[in-house]
Amino acid sequence: MMLMISEMTEKPVAHWRGQERYGNELLECLTVIFKSGGCSWSKCSMCSYRHERYYGRYSADILIKNLRAQLAWVSSQYRPEEYRMVKIFTSGSFFDPHEIPAEFLADIANTFRGKLVIAETRPEFVKTDTISRFIDLLDDGSWKIPFYCAIGLETSSDIIREKCINKGFSFLDFKQAASISHSAGAGVKAYLLFKPLFLKNVIQ
Ligand code: SF4
Repeated sequence: MMLMISEMTEKPVAHWRGQERYGNELLECLTVIFKSGGCSWSKCSMCSYRHERYYGRYSADILIKNLRAQLAWVSSQYRPEEYRMVKIFTSGSFFDPHEIPAEFLADIANTFRGKLVIAETRPEFVKTDTISRFIDLLDDGSWKIPFYCAIGLETSSDIIREKCINKGFSFLDFKQAASISHSAGAGVKAYLLFKPLFLKNVIQ
């Protein structure tokens, strides 16, 4: 009983219900920001989510226990029939194995099986095997493309991405990750950043 109370007090950083446009449809969407092991890069100039992480020494066992407690809490708050789309963010990258253990990817896929899922990750963590495994568990045939990799590309300009944002990857890296995603059966969504800091220093 004590353990259950303790687990249910572990909550995501944020969560909300809303609507998202998908093709010609307006879908009910659940958005969840999970507190995780933290972004491996942690250097982008505009980012505050990287601070929403577990600090200090913790084992992989404790990390997955905390993540599972967050997921259990989300499941207790939202009924599956209330939403068709799920957008997932973490303190960094959904597919970074140091941040989100592989077992938890399977938990997410099983919990949201049949939903249209979008999860954010840096391009270096987009691997064919990881994406394919995730889709195999998630897909029940409800969607032509059941999963989208969302990547914070921010801008098509390598100079602005490097000098203003310090993002740490190139447009070519994004294109390669997009190609891997597509070959593994996933769609791709690019997040863009308008008017990044320090833009004046680069374009004058
Ligand atoms: S990669 Fe994402 S989470 Fe990491 S510092 Fe940059 S914006 Fe933040």
